[in-house]
Amino acid sequence: MIPAPSAAAADGLQNLTFREVEAALEAAGLRPFHARAVWRAMYRDLAGSWDEVADLPGAVRRWLDARPLCFPEVAAEVASGDGWTRKFLLRLADGREVETVLMEFAGRHTACLSTQAGCAMGCVFCATGQGGFFRHLAPGEIVAQVRQARRAMRAAGGTGPRNLVLMGMGEPLHNYDAVMTALDIITDTRAFNIGPAHVSISTVGVVPGIVRLAEERRPYNLAVSLHGADDTERSALVPVNRRWPLPELIGACRHYGRLTGRRIFFEWTLVAGRNDTPETARRLASLLRGLDAHINLIPLNPTGGFGGAATAPAAVQAFKEALQGAGFPCTVRQRRGIDVAAGCGQLQAENRRREAAPA
Ligand code: SF4
Repeated sequence: MIPAPSAAAADGLQNLTFREVEAALEAAGLRPFHARAVWRAMYRDLAGSWDEVADLPGAVRRWLDARPLCFPEVAAEVASGDGWTRKFLLRLADGREVETVLMEFAGRHTACLSTQAGCAMGCVFCATGQGGFFRHLAPGEIVAQVRQARRAMRAAGGTGPRNLVLMGMGEPLHNYDAVMTALDIITDTRAFNIGPAHVSISTVGVVPGIVRLAEERRPYNLAVSLHGADDTERSALVPVNRRWPLPELIGACRHYGRLTGRRIFFEWTLVAGRNDTPETARRLASLLRGLDAHINLIPLNPTGGFGGAATAPAAVQAFKEALQGAGFPCTVRQRRGIDVAAGCGQLQAENRRREAAPA
């Protein structure tokens, strides 16, 4: 059985959509329109406690006092030497820790959010996968990461973030319902007002989740991590491929494309000598033929638990040209924040090592 979020994390107002806050007020005999003040305090003013909120009727304040705001504390924070990446390690109410990364690209800020404490998918090159799975995050624990990013940006005199990627710790489609509730809150114009077109959900290939996203017509971008062009190659890097092998996964992607008309982003981590030859690129192109696809290439971000190395720049270029030659748009993603362990799970692993080290 999957451990549930702690009671403090699961029960708070931060888990509720706007309509649910209105309904909760109404059920308590209070006027539902106070939901606007509650949400303004939580998501616009970024209040840390209800004491910071002025002008509330006594009955509403008493109701709120029985539901204290419960946001994670920042256990560690680091910034990359180039100043483009900041990483926060957030400690949840039950002591579990998750990472949130804030990245700047061309003046625009993107927050990378975690959706689980740990991850059950076990991708061999990923520090989070190497650490195992603990539990799903509650919606409010996902929303709180955007709040933290916004607090940090506000403290630096900025606004945003404008873009979100669900690409941090955890597999978003393994925690589908909580993720969708969190996104309902985050994209609400009365909360952070981040447009759905600015949100990308990244999956390692949880087929039932992709089908649900398509059939529910969720308005978010979909990114699928592939890393292998046949089942043997992929299963060696992404063990969950044994559960949902490539024919099923690509079939779900085609279904998604047909129902939504959306382009799918495919992520490909380039590991030297494993999946980075032009011949592999041509097999990948043939696998994706007929899909509206954009391929993002990511040279491996090294982790302690995996012996692979990043592909050299000339081989990255050759891989890219082979895909482009087959007609696929393709981007090499910049590796940001290597010096702050920006790969998912790396800051947590480093923090644990630091805490365990003798003084
Ligand atoms: S890469 Fe993503 S899906 Fe794979 S183990 Fe890491 S967090 Fe989980």
